[in-house]
Amino acid sequence: MTNLILIGPPGAGKGTQAQILCERYGIVQISTGDILRQAVKDQTELGKKAKEYMDAGDLVPDAVVIGIIEDRIAEPDCKNGFILDGFPRTVEQAEALDSILKEKNLPLKAVINFEVPDEELVKRLLGRAEKEGRADDNIDTIKNRIKVFKEKTAPLIQYYERTGILKNISGVGTVEEISERVRETLES
Ligand code: AMP
Repeated sequence: MTNLILIGPPGAGKGTQAQILCERYGIVQISTGDILRQAVKDQTELGKKAKEYMDAGDLVPDAVVIGIIEDRIAEPDCKNGFILDGFPRTVEQAEALDSILKEKNLPLKAVINFEVPDEELVKRLLGRAEKEGRADDNIDTIKNRIKVFKEKTAPLIQYYERTGILKNISGVGTVEEISERVRETLES
């Protein structure tokens, strides 16, 4: 069973690398961002709760996303393993995840932290705005998302460093170069 966490600022390439890893290891990608965007689109209760935060580039409350993950990893398609893409994003989420995994007896293989300089992130996200038309890919929201990452999510790097499973990987380069770095790191 291969369970992975991908950490990195918005635009670091987590989603792209998660898709490659899914195929490589036959596991599922769990993106809280994708789940929330779908809920907003479907105008569900969850979507209504999340929309304002997402439009501003702020984090959706911890309790909401923790509930999503707890339900999702209990689904049968997660039996070979899963990649958490965009979760956890706060220390509180990481602590909640630890207890969920412990209770279910699920091991974490690695936490991969993609490192990309700010200027490169802004460039990529503005490019994605043109291509995908995501509501939160505009310059003000992008700046806020990077700030929120530094304040709320970057502390997770120290959090997982203590567990010994943190792998820092440069997220600069082509998709193939980065996926090879990930492969080497996981298979060495
Ligand atoms: P992402 O697609 O991962 O960049 O997420 C898009 C937006 O969804 C974020 O800016 C947050 O508003 C929200 N979101 C996604 N994952 C989380 C999470 N783990 N905790 C809180 N908010 C989240």
